[in-house]
Amino acid sequence: MDRQSAHEEFRRFLKREENRITPERFEVLDHAIEYEGHFGADELYVQMKSSHSNISRATVYNTLELLAQCGILSKRNFGENKTRYESNVGKISHDHLICTNCGTIKEFSDPKIQKIVKKISSEIGFDPTGYSFNIFGKCTNSNCSHNINGK
Ligand SMILES: [Zn+2]
Ligand SMILES: [Zn+2]
Repeated sequence: MDRQSAHEEFRRFLKREENRITPERFEVLDHAIEYEGHFGADELYVQMKSSHSNISRATVYNTLELLAQCGILSKRNFGENKTRYESNVGKISHDHLICTNCGTIKEFSDPKIQKIVKKISSEIGFDPTGYSFNIFGKCTNSNCSHNINGK
């Protein structure tokens, strides 16, 4: 999916769900798909404000939810009490390793995982709309020194 098809996809989605098609929603879409890596709603809001957008916090929050429902963004939970988003535009599906010491998030992609999701879902009779696979642990390289808990 590229930027253009993400716009078309989102427009179709909004129509189908009888949501209003507003320029603000597409402004959020553009910023979200340009964001490098994983972000929380507040981080995107602050970034948009610093680029002189007049967007409201509520619009950022509810548009991100709509974009996740539409499949343009993935919702991530890395074990904290915080929802993060990540763009699917121009990216292959992937999973994460999360260092509980320094907070580094590494990405990997292995088609075996998607196959397992399909296999288990069809065996049980389930139509999967998403899945979550995180590996928690500690980096084994020497760069893992900064402790996120400040200890
Ligand atoms: Zn990721
Ligand atoms: Zn680490």
